[in-house]
Amino acid sequence: MSDAHHLLGLQPGATPQQVKRAFRKLAMQWHPDRNPDPAAIEHFKALRQAHDRLLATLLDGGEAADADASPETSGAPPARGADRWQTLEISLEDAFRGATRPVCVRTPRPCTHCTGSGIEKLSVSRLCEPCRGSGRVRGAKGLIRCPECDGRGYRNTQACTHCSGSGEEVAERWLQVVIPPGLVDDDELRLSGEGEPHPEVGHPPGDLRLRIRLQPHPLFRRDARNLVLQRPVSALRMLIGGSLRIPHPGGVRSVALEPGVAHARTLRLSGAGFPARGKHPAGDLVIELEPMLPQTPEKPLHTLIEQLDNALTARASHHFPELARWEEDWLGD
Ligand SMILES: [Zn+2]
Ligand SMILES: [Zn+2]
Repeated sequence: MSDAHHLLGLQPGATPQQVKRAFRKLAMQWHPDRNPDPAAIEHFKALRQAHDRLLATLLDGGEAADADASPETSGAPPARGADRWQTLEISLEDAFRGATRPVCVRTPRPCTHCTGSGIEKLSVSRLCEPCRGSGRVRGAKGLIRCPECDGRGYRNTQACTHCSGSGEEVAERWLQVVIPPGLVDDDELRLSGEGEPHPEVGHPPGDLRLRIRLQPHPLFRRDARNLVLQRPVSALRMLIGGSLRIPHPGGVRSVALEPGVAHARTLRLSGAGFPARGKHPAGDLVIELEPMLPQTPEKPLHTLIEQLDNALTARASHHFPELARWEEDWLGD
C-alpha cells in the first residue's frame, strides 16, 4: 500500500470516488479553520497532496506516479504528528486528590468494511424492493424510473451493513490517565505520543492534550485555588465557640471556632484549599458560617432561655447595644 493510500485510510485499488470521499471526510477534521493545532496545516497539505496524487494516477491509468512522488516536499514536514485536543471532565474530589481515570479517544476513519464507499456488493442480485422488480415506481405524475435500482428492477449492491451506508466508522482507544492532584479548570494534561499519527512512517505521533473541566459540586465552590463552602452553625455555638466538623475532599476535619458574634462570618484555613501545583501555591479552605436560630424550642427549654435572656438584658448596653440605645431613645424618661 502506498503512503497516499495509507494517509487517506484507503485500500489499494480505491476508486476516484472513494479517494474524493475519504479526502472530504478527513479534510473536515484537519482543515486549519477547524483544527487549531499548528501541525494541522502540514497534515492537511499532506492529505491534499495524497488526494491529488492518487486522482492523477487513477485518471492517467498508471501506478508509477504514485511510487516515488516524494521530491515535491517543499515545506519540510513536521517532526511529529498533530496534537489532539479533548476535554476531560472530572469531579472536584478527583481534581483535589488526583486519580486514575479511563479516557476514550475516538477517531473517525473510513469504514474498513466498505473502504469508505458506504456500499457493499451483494454476491447474489436481489429483487429491488421499492419497485418490486418492475423498475418503476409511482411518482407525482405517474410512473417514473425507480431511483433505487435505476430502472433495472434488481440490485447487486446495498448500503454497507457495517456503517449503515455512512462510509465512516469510529475507532475507539481507551487510555488510563493519571490525574495529578491540584488540577483546576482550563489546566492541561499532556499525554506525550497519544495524539494523531504522523502522515509518514518513522515519525512519532503528536500529543493528546486534555483540557480539564471540573464538574459542579453540590457543596464546594472553587474560587481560584480556594475551596469555599457554606456551613450552617447554631447561633449560640457561634457566640461561645467550640469545635466544628467540616467536610473536606481530603476527609472530614475538625476546626476550632473562636467565640464571637453570631452574624454570618468566615473561617479561613490557610493551605487547606486546592493543593499547590507548579508555581501556584495551595489555596485556602474558606468556610462561610451561617448562623441558625433555634426554631420553636420545646416548653422545658423556655425556663433556660428565660434565664439566659434575663442575664443578657441585665447588661443590655454590653450584650445588645443597639437594643439598649433604642429603648433609651423611645422608652427612657
Ligand atoms: Zn461501511
Ligand atoms: Zn427498483
